[in-house]
Amino acid sequence: MTVLILGGAGYVGSHATDEFLARGYDVAVVDNLSTGHRAAVDEKARFYEGDIRDKTFLSDVFTKEKNIEGVMHFCAYSLVGESMEKPLMYFENNVGGAITLLEVMNDFNVKHIVFSSTAATFGIPKETPITEQTPQNPINPYGESKLIMEKMMKWQASATDMTYVALRYFNVAGAKHDGSIGEAHKNETHLIPIILQVALGQREKIMIYGDDYQTEDGTCVRDYIGMADLIDAHIKALDYLKTGGQSDAFNLGTKTGYSNLQVLETARKVTGHAIPSEIGPRRAGDPDALVADSSKAQAILKWTPSEKLADIIQNAWSWHQKHPHGYED
Ligand code: UDP
Repeated sequence: MTVLILGGAGYVGSHATDEFLARGYDVAVVDNLSTGHRAAVDEKARFYEGDIRDKTFLSDVFTKEKNIEGVMHFCAYSLVGESMEKPLMYFENNVGGAITLLEVMNDFNVKHIVFSSTAATFGIPKETPITEQTPQNPINPYGESKLIMEKMMKWQASATDMTYVALRYFNVAGAKHDGSIGEAHKNETHLIPIILQVALGQREKIMIYGDDYQTEDGTCVRDYIGMADLIDAHIKALDYLKTGGQSDAFNLGTKTGYSNLQVLETARKVTGHAIPSEIGPRRAGDPDALVADSSKAQAILKWTPSEKLADIIQNAWSWHQKHPHGYED
């Protein structure tokens, strides 16, 4: 049986492809390479270059791949700032792509989907840590598009025998332990890779966005989840669906928050570099603290995260040192 990985050339998708293969699954990958990298996809996976919004293309993939037992969806746009500037682009790609995908899954009688959702569906939470009961009120088009996708899957699951798991990621970081694949965005916006670019000498300093938040040291607090733990949750989610588990959503984090300054300090220790920094103005749309309560995933999916912040940064550092220019090396 085959796992179809949509967005398998991207940051999370390429690590999922690698790990499903390592665990003996047959894997096919679809990616339009708009942000992904062909070199990130293991050669053992069959690769189809194309866009999931293209129904003819996607139906052709499902025709060729006769034994799809589950679909992993990693092919949405995911930058908060970009979504504020180009909301329609987010709804068109994220929501539009999911509509076509659900139609094709229905046409070909494929029953299970595991889908990347996000802490951004919660907006500014009224409670912390955030549970699955915490109300979802997104404050940007990215989070809104993912919430719409969650709801679409819910209604489609209630109308058909399709089942889904939505995994709401908190802050994903890190890379495969051996540093062979990792994070490579054209315009990097995320904290940990930018800090490591400073350590590599590619940037002069890291600008910390704001130190007047309602947190202990005044900088934003985030819950970092390592790549290996994240992918493990996806594999467990697919197993859960295959063994009759009901459609559901789970928060994925570690229940431990780190401030931006704590992340910086940890990166200084891991890399041995001074990593100059400066406090700058706040970035629009940043909640003070986002920390996940993942007890539901632990209880139902039997998922327990094990990577600590220093391990996560160490793995990311291995990747950045081996591939200072990403996949262009
Ligand atoms: N951040 C920062 N400087 C940077 C990039 C990010 O201070 O150059 C902060 C950002 O404002 C947020 C935290 O780091 O408080 C995590 O941001 P990131 O973009 O990595 O993830 P997000 O929480 O937006 O998903």
